[in-house]
Parts: sequence; structure tokens; C-alpha cells
Amino acid sequence: MSLISLALSRGDLVETRNLIADNWTGGLEPRQLAVTDPSDGGLVSNVPDAGAADAKAAVDAAQAAFNAWRGAPARDRAAVLKRWNDVIVAHQDDLGRLISREQGKPLAEGRGEVLYAASYVEWFAEQATRTNGEVIPSPFSNKRILSVREPVGVVAVITPWNFPAAMIARKIAPALAAGCTVVAKPAEDTPLTALALVKLAQEAGVPPGVINIVTASRERAAGVVDVWLADDRVRKISFTGSTPVGKHLARQSASTLKKVSLELGGNAPFIVFADADIDAAVEGLMAAKFRNGGQTCVCPNRVYVHELVHDAFVAKLAARVGALKVGPASDSTSQIGPMINERAVQKIERHVRDAVSQGARIVVGGERIRKPDSPQAAYFSPTVLVDATPSMACSCEETFGPVVAVARFRDESEVVARANATPFGLAAYFYTDSPARIWRVAEALECGIVGINEGVLAAEAAPFGGVKESGYGREGSVHGLDDYQQIKYLCQGGV
Ligand code: NAD
Repeated sequence: MSLISLALSRGDLVETRNLIADNWTGGLEPRQLAVTDPSDGGLVSNVPDAGAADAKAAVDAAQAAFNAWRGAPARDRAAVLKRWNDVIVAHQDDLGRLISREQGKPLAEGRGEVLYAASYVEWFAEQATRTNGEVIPSPFSNKRILSVREPVGVVAVITPWNFPAAMIARKIAPALAAGCTVVAKPAEDTPLTALALVKLAQEAGVPPGVINIVTASRERAAGVVDVWLADDRVRKISFTGSTPVGKHLARQSASTLKKVSLELGGNAPFIVFADADIDAAVEGLMAAKFRNGGQTCVCPNRVYVHELVHDAFVAKLAARVGALKVGPASDSTSQIGPMINERAVQKIERHVRDAVSQGARIVVGGERIRKPDSPQAAYFSPTVLVDATPSMACSCEETFGPVVAVARFRDESEVVARANATPFGLAAYFYTDSPARIWRVAEALECGIVGINEGVLAAEAAPFGGVKESGYGREGSVHGLDDYQQIKYLCQGGV
């Protein structure tokens, strides 16, 4: 039951139960998880705080559904996914409101995320029908060699809070397209969007047991996921979240040798060379950094600006950042919503304090914003720091907030070395007008994704993923099904 009005055209999209097999259930245990609105701290709804028994029941259901789903013609699976895409798009406004309410991103961004999520569902509906095998030239005249692609089996999907719709779609759509069945656990801060998407999947015709979803509090998340890690029927873990949790899942998956794909934290560099179009670079940084209040894994975290253009760049950037409007997600004029929770604001405050104590200067922002009428709200002012150094926390850890830390550099090889001096390797960005430099720097950066004179990188047709401690596996693109399939080699003799 929704406790505050969400003004949705379909109130029943605020689903507060879990789906296991064909049953929407309150969970096998009486505990509840409270979902709150980060804009004002108010209670949005309660959902089940599931435990080990629910986790096992979800795997039982997914395993029971697997043979029929993998056996369905690819065209039929594609048709279901196409219908899922259609109903997601049709409910763009409701889903956008739900995202904004539980996650805090401004409404326009919430609606945008819904379409972005749907684009993956549509893409994998199409890819479902193109999972061709191979006929391989045989080295033996009496044998023929073929390979076919098969679904891996039951997939466990574990997602973060920052893109509550996109992360669910980016994992469940390829799993279903490949012929896998799913057990899913969305982030504890944002379960409602995931539950609504699963409800729409059911309406689109996803058969019972093909998607099962359980919700759990942070304290009990490990209890649910540990059941999946230990269960040898779960053949793959698809995780997006922080690097420490990703490493834990990789270690624990080893006992049953599951396939694992990990989309983990980043620490993206953003480099502005002296020959760059400065206005375009400021524009690109604004788009890359301030989407979702700076809470995206591909957000630039370290900005390096050539000393010849540093002051001009910072002046333009500060003017743009200082003009950003901070406010609740429900206010259509807000450009930066609240951070996800108090813990997130405290981390940002720590990073800014640490930077200043080590010699950084605040050009604009730098403080949390208190709202007298909602003391529990978690806002932070958009901030530009200059004179950042490598030892500052904002240079070595993801700040995950609306803070840009700028440092100067002198030459290309020096800045590439500084950009690569991190255990992470998800995204990197650079702005230059030199075609030769474009190749040199793009090749030298140690990361999975490079923005070249561009700040907005995500697209369903592109392979998204990292290297080093940002994880492995690729989501989206023609490679996006690979992680959910295994190749079987068929050899026919006696020819
Ligand atoms: P998190 O790792 O704390 O949580 C992610 C998920 O893991 C949640 O569902 C949580 O309940 C679950 N979880 C937490 N502890 C667990 C445990 N011990 N065992 C099993 N599951 C557990 O991450 P978060 O704070 O929700 O998300 C922010 C992080 O996600 C950032 O580091 C961000 O960079 C990263 N992220 C990465 C990408 C990407 O594509 N690379 C995309 C979005 C977010």
C-alpha cells in the first residue's frame, strides 16, 4: 500500500510485494523495508524485507521455468520483450515519477531514464533472434564441426540505486533474450521501480517463474544473495554496484564456478587539452558530471585542464555550475535533486573538507544545503574545487555527488599517466582538436569507455563496461548477450 500519493495514472504500479513464480507475495517473513523519498525524508511505501527462504523459493521458481523458456522459439521470446518495451514506454510518465520519488532525480531525468531502460529491452528483443551459431571448416574430411549458443541457466541480477530502471532492464532483457530465467534483487533504496517494471513484464506476457524478484534491506541483502551464490542452479551473477561488493561476489561465485559480470565503480578522468573547444568542453563536463546529481558511475571525478586554458575554463565552468538549480525532484525547475541519503551527503562533505585541508580552493558551492521544512533531505550545493592533488580523497575515490575537482597539467604524457594512476578503469573523457592526439590518447587510456569531445556516452547499441577494478563483462551492443550464453561445440563423425 502506498503511504503517500505518487499521483500516478495507474496507482497499482506502486507494487509493494515480491514476485515468486506466479505469486505476488508479502514474503515468507513478516519484516518490512521502508522506502523513503530523499527529497524530504518522507515514507513512500513499505516492501518485503525478504530472507533466505524467499531467495531459495525464487531460485526454485526460476529453475522450474527454465526449460520451457529456453525451448520457446527465439521469435516468441522476442515478441514478449517487444511487448515489455511497449508497455514501459506507454507508462513512461508513471515510471518516471516513481524513479524520481524513490531515487530523487529530477522528473525530466526520471522520464528520460525510462526511455533509456526501454531502449535496452527493445534492443535485446531484436538481438534475441540473431544468436547464430557457426559452421566451422573441418580439418577432417569425415567430420563436421558446428557451434551453437545456449542460455547459461538461472541468472541472479543485483542492481544499485542510481538507475533503478535502466540497471534492471540492462540485465533482465539480455537474460530473457538469451533464454535464461532470472532471480533479481534491486537496491534497498529503490525497489519500487524494479517491482513496477516486473509487473509490466508480467503484463507483457513473461511466463510465471521466468522473472522472480525479492526485495531486502541493506542488512539482509547479503543473506539473500548468499543463498544465490551457494546454489549451483544459479549459473550466472550479473552485478552493478560498488567494487568491494563486486569483489565479494566474484570470490563467493568461485565455489560453484558461476559466470560473473561486474559493472563496478569508476574514477573517470576528464582532460581538456589546450587546443580544445573550451565551450564544448564545459558543455560536455556539465552533461557528464551533473546528470543524476553526479551520482553515476561514468561521472568525471578528476578534471585535468591544460595550464594555458585553465583559468578561462574554470571561469566558464563556475558560472554554469553556480547557476544550477537545486531542489526536490518533483519541482520541474530542479536540475540537481537530493543525494540518495544522508550517508552520501556525509561522504561528499568529507571529500570537500579533505580537499580544502590539503590546499584546494572552493570556487563555487562547497556546502550541504539545509531545507528548514525537511531536515532529513539530503542536498549538496553544486561545487567547483581547484588545485586538486592526487592525494586528496576526491581524486582517489568516487565522490558520487555534484563536485568537480580541477587540476592543472602541462603535457600529454604527464596527464595520461595521471589519468591512468587509479585502480579503476570505467570511463574517461578528453577534449582536443588534434586528430593525431585523439588516437594517441584514446589508445593510451586504461578504461572501457572513452568520450572524445563528447560527454554523454551511454547507448543501447554500444558495449558498456570497464577494465581493472571497474569490473568485466559488457552490457548492450551485439556483445551484450555473450555473458548470458555459453557456446556448445557439436562434432558429427562418419560423414
Ligand atoms: P552497492 O555495492 O552498495 O550495492 C549494490 C547492490 O548490492 C545493492 O542491491 C545492494 O543491496 C547489494 N549488496 C550490498 N552489499 C551486499 C553484499 N554483501 N552481498 C550481496 N549484495 C550486496 O552499490 P550502490 O551504493 O548501490 O551503488 C553505487 C555504486 O555502484 C557506485 O560505486 C557506482 O559507481 C556503481 N555503479 C556502477 C555502474 C557501472 O555500470 N559500472 C553503474 C551504476 C552504479
